[in-house]
Order: sequence, then C-alpha cells, then structure tokens
Amino acid sequence: MAKIDVLLEGYKRFHAKHFLGDDKLYARLAEGQMPKALLIGCSDSRVDPSILMDADPGDIFVIRNVANLAPPYQPEGESYHGTSAALEFAVNNLKVEHIVVMGHSGCAGIKALVDGNQASPEEFSFLQSWVNIARDAKERTLEKCQHSDEDKYAICEKESIITSIHNLLTFPWLKEKVDDGSIELHGWYFSLSDGKLYLLSEEKNFEEANLG
Ligand SMILES: [Zn+2]
Repeated sequence: MAKIDVLLEGYKRFHAKHFLGDDKLYARLAEGQMPKALLIGCSDSRVDPSILMDADPGDIFVIRNVANLAPPYQPEGESYHGTSAALEFAVNNLKVEHIVVMGHSGCAGIKALVDGNQASPEEFSFLQSWVNIARDAKERTLEKCQHSDEDKYAICEKESIITSIHNLLTFPWLKEKVDDGSIELHGWYFSLSDGKLYLLSEEKNFEEANLG
C-alpha cells in the first residue's frame, strides 16, 4: 500500500509556503469567497482545474465528478443531487459569471459510457447509471463514427460536453441568467497527450485555443 505520508508532507510544504507566506491570501479567503467562475471538471487525477488554469485558491468554484457531467434539472424524487446542489450554490449564492464544462482526453468515465457495462455490473452500478446522463452523446458519437476513423472515445468526450451544456440550460434559474447575459457558458476540452486546449464554438466545433 502506498504511504499516506506523501500527502502529509505535501501539506507541510503548502502550509509553510502558502499559509504562512507573505501574501496574506488565506487571511483574506478566511473572510469568504467570491469566485467569478464555476468549472465542472472530471475527477480524473490528471486534470486538476486549478493547476491547469494556474489559478489561486478562491478563483474557481469547482465541481468534479466522473466524466465532468452536468445532469438535467430533476427537482422531484429523492435522489442525492450533489452536482445540482453545487451548481445551485454557485449560481444563486456566489453569482458566478462564467460556467465552464471541461472534458479531457482518455476519460475513463466516457469510455465506460461508450463501451457499456459488460464485465461486472455489480462493481460499477453507480458509475454506469451516472455516465448514462450522456447517453445521447453516445448516440451522436456512434452515428458520427460510421463516417469517420476518428477515435470514438474522443468524439464522445467532446459530445458529452455539448450534452452537459444543454443540461445546464434545463435549470430554469440558470437559463434565465444565460438569457439576460449575466452568465456565459463555455465548453473546453483538454488533450493530455499534446497539452492543447480546445474551445467549443457557437457552431458546436472544438477549436484549438490560441495561446498567443
Ligand atoms: Zn475523465
């Protein structure tokens, strides 16, 4: 078993450098948070949004879940709506101005969606029903794959971002703010192999970000 000490050592370095450091950032943050952006990212250990965006604590309100999915608005029923609760807080309390759905290459959650759950349904029952939020992305992907040699997982990783943005707009209080221009929605896709970031255009294409 790996030792947990490596994380505690990291905490010691953080505490010395950032908490006891000179910039008094945490003294300010102890008073409250005012992030302008909410980012919905994947739980994958390789795609930490704060690291990728070189952001400081307090800059980004982050929701991380399997495959960076936004579920549709489902107020009824007794499910545990963790992602929807965080979304509600970010929009209605923190009043974020931007919401980014950020997907990534090599996403195991999207692979599970595309491949389906053949091997061990009892081991992945929660995961499979969660990624099925994006089943329409899978349908569009399989349609596109008939005409393309492109990696079906990469296509579905991008299509699921479009599905999540569509789902965000089913939350009435969020759609209202998008319509009046107080919130802007963004779809981003990070490629781990070459470090490129792709931005979803209005025409629903992913175009490489210009890093200048
Ligand atoms: Zn992922």
